[in-house]
Amino acid sequence: MIKEVKEAVDGSVELARAMGVTLKYFFKKPVTNQFPDEPVAVYPRFRGRHVLKRYENGLERCIGCALCAAACPTDCIYVEAAENTDEDRRSPGERYAKTYDINMLRCIFCGYCAEACPTEAIVLEHDFALAQYNRWDAIYTKERLLEPHDPPHVILRSDEVFVETPSWGGTKKR
Ligand code: SF4
Ligand code: SF4
Repeated sequence: MIKEVKEAVDGSVELARAMGVTLKYFFKKPVTNQFPDEPVAVYPRFRGRHVLKRYENGLERCIGCALCAAACPTDCIYVEAAENTDEDRRSPGERYAKTYDINMLRCIFCGYCAEACPTEAIVLEHDFALAQYNRWDAIYTKERLLEPHDPPHVILRSDEVFVETPSWGGTKKR
């Protein structure tokens, strides 16, 4: 009998504790992103879809050196270089990327390609909406990767604000 009473009391305490957690969050402002109806704020350091950059004069930064492909741990970049000519100049160097493909199905968004690039041509920007119905659409070609790409569903949030997470321990900057 004593055992049953103790179990009933313990159960009630656990129930009250669980309801306490529910009530604690019931009145807090929801943090759910209403994507795609509203834009999503991402941190500047968030690594999303790649973009191939140009210089201000319009020339492509990419010189077709394939260092990005060599650095890629998932082998998802394919670069084929060609020579610039006076009649057809695409980049300031001797060569440019005739073909530049990224297979986004294999990409793990590590950013090694951007780190390896000597001209800062390939950059991981902030677009995260990369779902496809057709797997071949996941091959991003050079034409698709070249600027501009400024999706309306992405906005930048301040990188100065860190959310307090006590379970991490230590002091967090605000
Ligand atoms: S982010 Fe990483 S995995 Fe993706 S293309 Fe660049 S190097 Fe390869
Ligand atoms: S993106 Fe950069 S590393 Fe890759 S081929 Fe072009 S210049 Fe070379």
